[in-house]
Amino acid sequence: MPVEYYDHGLCNGCGTCVLTCPCDVFRLDKQNKKTIIAYRSECQVCGMCIIYCPTGAIAVTPEKDIKAMTAYM
Ligand code: SF4
Ligand code: SF4
Repeated sequence: MPVEYYDHGLCNGCGTCVLTCPCDVFRLDKQNKKTIIAYRSECQVCGMCIIYCPTGAIAVTPEKDIKAMTAYM
């Protein structure tokens, strides 16, 4: 799994991860004030969510199979 919660209880629903993720992985559950990892498979393991999450709620593992770039002629 590329991105997952380190501790879901730490999430305060600030929405920073929603704004910073370049791959649109997160959705904000405003009712429960938590972020949802809605599109985990889209994670490209950039680490931005870890850097900017103010509570350290997110973990990212480098176990993503990133397909090699292919050039077509
Ligand atoms: S940045 Fe961290 S605390 Fe803020 S919504 Fe995302 S997971 Fe929760
Ligand atoms: S590691 Fe990067 S791509 Fe993956 S969820 Fe975090 S911000 Fe998004």
